[in-house]
Amino acid sequence: MDYNSILQRIQKEVAELFGIGKVADYIPALAKISPRKFGMAVKLTNGEEYSIGDATEAFSIQSISKLIILTLYLKKYGLEIGNRVGVEPSGSAFNSLVQLEYENGIPRNPLINAGAIVLTDGLLSIYPDIKERVLEFARTNSENSSISFDEEIAKSEYDTGFRNFALANFMKSYGNIDNDIFYVLNAYFHHCSIKMSCIDMTRCFYYLANEGVSQNGKQILSTRGTKRINAMMLTCGTYDAVGDFAFRVGVPAKSGVGGGIVGVIPNKMSIAVWSPELNAQGNSVIGMKAMELFTTYTGISIF
Ligand code: GLN
Repeated sequence: MDYNSILQRIQKEVAELFGIGKVADYIPALAKISPRKFGMAVKLTNGEEYSIGDATEAFSIQSISKLIILTLYLKKYGLEIGNRVGVEPSGSAFNSLVQLEYENGIPRNPLINAGAIVLTDGLLSIYPDIKERVLEFARTNSENSSISFDEEIAKSEYDTGFRNFALANFMKSYGNIDNDIFYVLNAYFHHCSIKMSCIDMTRCFYYLANEGVSQNGKQILSTRGTKRINAMMLTCGTYDAVGDFAFRVGVPAKSGVGGGIVGVIPNKMSIAVWSPELNAQGNSVIGMKAMELFTTYTGISIF
């Protein structure tokens, strides 16, 4: 398969979609990114890597950090997850409050904000340094020690994260948050602020495509745990657009409002794409299209 020409073809075709979506502007630090960025990278399980465009430029991973939290949580608390969070798609926005009230403070799944906040709380009870552990996970798995938090983004999330504070307070009122919410959200916002490139992401999340084994040969998670995360990505990873994403792209994936999307095709490859303009559900317009074209042109998806 000629991955280089496929990526070139995709880059050319998605360029006409610039201007349709809108860069996340809920915090000033994210709004100032140049909208006309596009990067894509692929890492095959035979070790080959391909990339195009702005694939080496680091951007805010935002909700893609939820995959790291989920991995650490499953390792610590077991594959059943427990009763503090569900595993059903939400069908609602990533930061929705309304469902939480109906469901007594139990988030639908770990890949929406409320779910990741609960998991961060659980991990914080065991690891007071969870913030640094998540960063270390990104660095070690990507074999890139320069990966860092963007303190300006983290602070800006903290200063204006009224909805996330509302979610956390609401869950605390139901007894589903143990720690002080300021510590929990400080960790959560820092995880969102981590900056990585598409190439870093294909390496970091390679274990999800490779039965739990990282690119440096470490068993990060069991094969069974890996399957479970991939199942959750397919059903919950792109919020209220999961159906459309599975329909068009056919790959378990996780998106973030920084414009990144990471996907895996088990036993074949990890894929990452970045373009900051988002659709109404908070997924990258061009990123989704690029992934769709990729599975169309390669003829590879999970189905
Ligand atoms: N920092 C964002 C938030 O918590 C992350 C959301 C996302 O990437 N979908 O609202």
